[in-house]
Amino acid sequence: MPLRVHDHIIGTLTLDSDQPHAFTERHERLLTIAASQVAVAIENAQLYEQLRDRAEQLEAANRELQELNDLRNEMVANVTHELRNPLTFLKGYIGLIRDGELGPVSGEQIEALNVINEKTDSVSRLISDILALERITPSSLHRERHNLIDIVARAVSDAKVGLLTEGRSLTLTHEPGSDAILVDIDKDRINQVIYNLITNAVKFTRDGGAITVATHPPKGDIRFARVTIRDTGIGIAPDKLAYVFERFYQVDPMVGYQQGGAGLGLAIVQRIVEAHGGRVWAESESGQGSTFTFTLPVVADDDNAATET
Ligand code: ADP
Repeated sequence: MPLRVHDHIIGTLTLDSDQPHAFTERHERLLTIAASQVAVAIENAQLYEQLRDRAEQLEAANRELQELNDLRNEMVANVTHELRNPLTFLKGYIGLIRDGELGPVSGEQIEALNVINEKTDSVSRLISDILALERITPSSLHRERHNLIDIVARAVSDAKVGLLTEGRSLTLTHEPGSDAILVDIDKDRINQVIYNLITNAVKFTRDGGAITVATHPPKGDIRFARVTIRDTGIGIAPDKLAYVFERFYQVDPMVGYQQGGAGLGLAIVQRIVEAHGGRVWAESESGQGSTFTFTLPVVADDDNAATET
């Protein structure tokens, strides 16, 4: 009897007897049924084996990727650390030369030194950002109770001053959504989150556009407040959206570089928000603007009552 799986014959099932005419039609029918069941069983066993091999291969590939990722993180952390010292020297010497402590300097030389100084500062900022990514953990946060509305309102009004000083013509508004939303947060870190998100909205929105920051209180059983930063800027293509929170990722590296970024701002945002127990995500379409949303757990009512009494 052929062992048939779909259109393939994967073997045969034979039954022998030393007696002539030992098998009847009934035996034949029985053997047909047995053969079809054996064929299915063999196919299942083969599929299972293939699946197990695949799972093992995937697991090995995953382990390798994780190891590479750890190696990359370690290398970035080490290099960053090693860059810090020479930069301090560099800054020191730039200052000494510029102040004429090492001999007379011309106006042109001072101008050049100012450029070097500025570039040194941006490398320093980059290093601080990379190190911040390593250091931000739930236990490193200095949490205190704050009204999230006040924190966001303040961050927006600070950003408005920045817009004026940079000569950008964008409207930036805050929609508070409630009077008070109590949160236990590391204020400096959350300010950094809002600052990074507003800075991106400003960077990727042309003059004449609008940026709206809104704070939403928790709804129903959901014990999380939401802050959204919506812009009318260039937007992000759907296939790129999943990557924007990765370290060093920029949708368009040329534009990103011109804007003075290094692809770390959103990675820092994600790290800080998640250390607080919240989530951050982006929604966007090319040319249609973007909305970034982050959530933060609010203080439980009982907890709040306990501190008020
Ligand atoms: P960078 O500091 O280079 O801006 P980020 O991590 O903050 O790095 O952002 C990563 C990339 O995500 C940016 O380079 C840009 O391509 C894209 N992006 C972030 N925010 C926006 C936005 N509001 N509108 C359009 N693109 C954005």
